[in-house]
Amino acid sequence: MQGRSAKQIVGNLTKPRICLSLGFAVLVLCLSAPVALASLDKYFALVVADSPGARQAPGIVRVTYLGVNGFQFEASGHALLVDPYFTRAGLTAVALQQRIQPNEARIAFGLQHIRPHVDAVLVTHAHFDHLLDVPEIMRRTNARLVAGVTAANLTISCGVDHNHCLVVQPGSMRVIGPWRIRVLPATHDRILGWLPFGGTKTQPGSCPTKASDWPLGEPMAFLIEANGKRIYIDSGGTPEVLPPAQIAPVDLAILGVALPDSRKRFRAAVARLRPKYVLPSHQDDFFAPAEHGFAFGKLTDFRAVIRPFQRHEINSHLILLDYFRAWTIP
Ligand SMILES: [Zn+2]
Repeated sequence: MQGRSAKQIVGNLTKPRICLSLGFAVLVLCLSAPVALASLDKYFALVVADSPGARQAPGIVRVTYLGVNGFQFEASGHALLVDPYFTRAGLTAVALQQRIQPNEARIAFGLQHIRPHVDAVLVTHAHFDHLLDVPEIMRRTNARLVAGVTAANLTISCGVDHNHCLVVQPGSMRVIGPWRIRVLPATHDRILGWLPFGGTKTQPGSCPTKASDWPLGEPMAFLIEANGKRIYIDSGGTPEVLPPAQIAPVDLAILGVALPDSRKRFRAAVARLRPKYVLPSHQDDFFAPAEHGFAFGKLTDFRAVIRPFQRHEINSHLILLDYFRAWTIP
């Protein structure tokens, strides 16, 4: 359209920025609400872990929770990571669009709980709390990336060789070491109807410097199979997209429950997957350092998650994992 005033054009150009700022304001408001943070102590009966010093028998699959939505899976002397994030940038830096970058000391601390060599890092989407530390972790563990095109482009933007990045999409299947990885469709939760940091990155550029530089990209879930165990993992979702029923039953379903959207679809997702064990994930306060121990995030509602299990409406075992304490899937 011709004849638009400069003011109109500037107005249109600044609109996305205003939307983002509003989004941040809402986020800050939600997250600063005074909510009592509970630790896992209250739910100790649900926490599972191998006994200290237990040796890994051959043919097993072991899971270690790394905080946020991060996990290490081990099988036959191999390791696979999903969404490892140790930096845990502070709320102020994230909400106020300050510079965030991988925290070397926290990554070094996190890596003490991970095998020195990792086959691959799987990433469910490209937000900072899933991808920020991945380039550095890949460098230190010699891992490959398995992720959507946006996550791959951001990782390459931060100096990783593109040959180390396998771009996948729902329907993809990859075999890496003992791991058979199927990529499944997923969606991302909204915060009060707002999809946080939406967008994609179609080619590499400069390495991101603030939270909004890590756009959502292509959300995905994974079915990971090794040594006869089947693990489904996502980082949350909405009722509109549920895990495919054809992959059921699984041994372990790891379901993100950070926000109301993912809790709304939680029961339906469990019904689809028919898991032996259900592990709610992404429900810790990821703005606080891991050394402070597990504390529920301010927008989580574990009482709502646990309710259908207490009422015996779900047949699966509900479990919790504490930071860095490995558990062998029975
Ligand atoms: Zn996200």
